[in-house]
Amino acid sequence: MEEELKVNSGERESGSQPARSGESEAKSHQHKCLLCGTELRTRFARVLDAKTLETFATLECPACGLGCTDPKSEDLAKYYRDYHGGRHGITNTFCTNRRMRILQRLAGRRAGKRLLDVGCGEGTFLLAAKAEGWSVAGTEMNPVAARAAGLEVQSNFSSIRTLAPFDCITLWHSLEHMPDPRATLQEARNLLAPDGILIIAVPDAGGFQARVFGAKWLHFDVPRHLYHFTRFSLANLLRREGFAMVRAWHQEFEYDVLGWSQSVLNYGPTAPNLFFDLLTGRHPEIGALGKFFTWTAGCALTGLAIFLVPVGTILKRGGTLIVAARPC
Ligand SMILES: [Zn+2]
Repeated sequence: MEEELKVNSGERESGSQPARSGESEAKSHQHKCLLCGTELRTRFARVLDAKTLETFATLECPACGLGCTDPKSEDLAKYYRDYHGGRHGITNTFCTNRRMRILQRLAGRRAGKRLLDVGCGEGTFLLAAKAEGWSVAGTEMNPVAARAAGLEVQSNFSSIRTLAPFDCITLWHSLEHMPDPRATLQEARNLLAPDGILIIAVPDAGGFQARVFGAKWLHFDVPRHLYHFTRFSLANLLRREGFAMVRAWHQEFEYDVLGWSQSVLNYGPTAPNLFFDLLTGRHPEIGALGKFFTWTAGCALTGLAIFLVPVGTILKRGGTLIVAARPC
């Protein structure tokens, strides 16, 4: 469901919980809100990383609702091992087609327009846009796979500036991975054409899934997600960096469905995020019985979740938030 936005708001959202800790050996702690400088408080004291079994806290700003992971590791590379492989394997085409529809609806179909995808992964979206006539480029922490697909991809913004201005810049689930989202949007503002469009998709930390499952929510994904956005904190961030939000959508279907089903399974006896790992082609160490249980329970819960997703979407509290913004 698409929502046309009339205002940006600094309104905060509720839902904090007391106490905090943090057991990882990472070094960097953040005490004040990146956006407004308010002292942060703990939202969840212990959020498990399913890959390393380390725990991290998530903090949030009581004034604007922006959340962050604490502590932030100074060696994030080790948390990204095997992160991308097959991630969207079963829904790749469905996901790419939906994103292309959003792109073309907002930016038109005229061939030759320039697109930058920030955090482009293996380049699936860029290849689809290229096939539709867009002139494409990307950034990616590890650009090897995307370059192998024949794409112009750099590991940082500075190497891509010569290709600016861009008619559209997309960040499909990458802004939450950025160490400084303000700096990322400032760079995007500089690279975007004056009449360009910015499209951002992030997990909605103010949505029903985050509220219901708390620290068990699949899409907290600590410590790789360094920031946790709500609709209001994202609107705040955009406004502060010179953008006006013009559209919002409150789901990405496969993200939302799995957000429900896997998060329920995270209360069970099997390893966290196991169903997600099986679905995305990873090879977790699990016996035949555990695999059978996970597939059976996961598929049943996914069937039920299909009916829950529209509820979050209609009430603007989905598992995923997509926004479009223009420079102002
Ligand atoms: Zn704040």
